[in-house]
Amino acid sequence: MAKILSGKEVAAAIAAQTRRKADAMKDSGHPPLLRIIRVGEKKSDLSYERGVRKRAEACGVDLSVDVLPEDVSDADIKEAIGKANLDDAVHGILLLLPLPRHLNEKEIINCIAPEKDLDGATDISMLGVYKGTNEGFAPCTPEAVVRILDYYGIDLSGKDVVIVGRSLVVGKPLAQMLMARNATVTTCHTKTKDLPEKTKRADILISAAGHIGTIKAEHVREGQIVIDVGINFDESGKMTGDVDFEDVSNIVSAITPVPGGVGSVTNAVLLAHICEGRVQ
Ligand code: NAP
Repeated sequence: MAKILSGKEVAAAIAAQTRRKADAMKDSGHPPLLRIIRVGEKKSDLSYERGVRKRAEACGVDLSVDVLPEDVSDADIKEAIGKANLDDAVHGILLLLPLPRHLNEKEIINCIAPEKDLDGATDISMLGVYKGTNEGFAPCTPEAVVRILDYYGIDLSGKDVVIVGRSLVVGKPLAQMLMARNATVTTCHTKTKDLPEKTKRADILISAAGHIGTIKAEHVREGQIVIDVGINFDESGKMTGDVDFEDVSNIVSAITPVPGGVGSVTNAVLLAHICEGRVQ
């Protein structure tokens, strides 16, 4: 049976560090403040916001929510972002996405000041990841993967890493971040030929495909580390990753579970960005 790389454990360590930094910021008269900007009362937004609030409270990060009407104009939402950008008391901005369809989401996201762009959503933050500069933040999910590997002392230098998935939020930035750690990265997608041949070559295999059963026993070999980024729901509504956990965990050396893996760390990274800054 593979060693379980517990995201919950990593998240708890990050949250404890965030708490210490938040307390120090409070002591120096600058309590960390997260500004959520939400349009309307969408159930999924409210549920996500409740989760962030709970974790922020646990980390000692204050939270304020700017709620805009469902029919808000581009100009008004840009104004709300502009105010948060200029407000020295606000340390980070989280714009709840997706925005209603009448809004120009891409343009609005790019109004967030990169230094307050906690989820690395702006073009400048992405450029920072690609150029290896410290502008903005890395997107939280790829950073969560890197933090899990760091926490468990898994050295990336010279390692062969295979990522399944090439999206802008996970696969592509993650490939850049791992290359910056001197890994040799192969990125696979739906047009990749002979996926098992590619995935078996990896020292570290990361799946961010978004489909149950993308990685099965035939895709892995002994000695590998498997990180499952996928969050999927089976027909009974149970959360599950991309990796066929039961079969794969009997073959490889180490594996992240779902739930309790990358997802837990992603949320912790968001709050850490307020107090800690970038990972690389
Ligand atoms: P996405 O935009 O749909 O991208 C999926 C990528 O996987 C695409 O590049 C696609 O290839 C590739 N792919 C899909 N099926 C494949 C297959 N059978 N073989 C090879 N490649 C395949 O998804 P995403 O936004 O990156 O999210 C990926 C997964 O991560 C989802 O389950 C999502 O819920 C989860 N996620 C988790 C967290 C977290 O905190 N843990 C955060 C964000 C996302 P093509 O480019 O060829 O279409």
